[in-house]
Amino acid sequence: MKVDLHIHSNYSDGLNSIEEILEEARSKNLEAVAIVDHGYDHSKGILHCNVAKREVELEALRGQYEDIKILSGIEADINLNGHINLYNDKYDLVLASTHEYYADEEYLRLVEAAVCSGKVDALAHYGWLVSWVLPPDDLMLKEKELAALMKEHNVAVELNSLHEKPGIEFIKLCAEAGLMYTIGSDSHRAPSVGNVEWAVRNAKLFFDESKLFLGKDK
Ligand SMILES: [Zn+2]
Ligand SMILES: [Zn+2]
Repeated sequence: MKVDLHIHSNYSDGLNSIEEILEEARSKNLEAVAIVDHGYDHSKGILHCNVAKREVELEALRGQYEDIKILSGIEADINLNGHINLYNDKYDLVLASTHEYYADEEYLRLVEAAVCSGKVDALAHYGWLVSWVLPPDDLMLKEKELAALMKEHNVAVELNSLHEKPGIEFIKLCAEAGLMYTIGSDSHRAPSVGNVEWAVRNAKLFFDESKLFLGKDK
């Protein structure tokens, strides 16, 4: 199945409108996309007052693009102590991620808290901007625990083509733990919608396609 479940629109820091994104998705024969704008705590995130407007727009476009499954998503920043701010908004796909540098132990602490929050569907670009200083064996142990925690809380792992994250070792651990996965280009402009080659390659290497997570029912 051809999907791209991580696309930014001009409701956050993407260049293009949702309609322009869907045109591109149709031209590339994508079967499912998720419009995933940055969340409320990101410097270029969607404004909370625009969420309802975006929902209305998405609903209208679903009528025009019946050949594409269109998910309403958000990429929520993992805040202090792992807090995820969604107000009370409902999304088909909640990605959680960080966008600043962390040392590995602090990063893992934040990510674990986000996983346990019950608000997150998938961890996005796990390991990006992280300085790894833990000894490899300790890191492996901690990442094994994280994968088990993700399984317990039904959190999928995102294979992110833009950042080529997570690293192969963590992808393997996630697959062994029986996690679901998502595929994302992390596109910020229409031409890169569907640029998911790296993600698809690794999905094929490590996961059964039945593990592809295509959003939850709101
Ligand atoms: Zn991100
Ligand atoms: Zn993103």
